[in-house]
Amino acid sequence: MLDKIKNSLYRFMAGRYGTDSLNNFLLFAAIAVMLINMLTLRSPFVNLLADALIFLSLFRTLSRNIWKRQKENIKYMELTRPVRSRFSLIKKNASDKEHKYFSCPHCHQTVRVPRGHGKIEITCPRCKSTFERKS
Ligand SMILES: [Zn+2]
Repeated sequence: MLDKIKNSLYRFMAGRYGTDSLNNFLLFAAIAVMLINMLTLRSPFVNLLADALIFLSLFRTLSRNIWKRQKENIKYMELTRPVRSRFSLIKKNASDKEHKYFSCPHCHQTVRVPRGHGKIEITCPRCKSTFERKS
């Protein structure tokens, strides 16, 4: 019985796009909008916006235009790169006690230096520009 459901689901999803980072974000945003609206405005229009986000995410998941959906996701990943790289820097700096991680102000390459050497001049390994940071 369960196999049958699994199989038909598999057949239903064959050739469809499925989920990606942008869809995860859309669902997360929809839930966030719904919760905030529930606690503050309680506006039916804001709820409609949340519904629209869920619909959009569902549409993208079931879409057969895989190429176009991939392009949207790539665009989304490009747009959010500064935010994501900032988060990954914070994560690395919190978990690594021996090194400190900086982002090159010119090319945004992540640069790792040993901790505890005071103010140092860092040379970016990618673009060779230098910047000063406290290690
Ligand atoms: Zn650089």
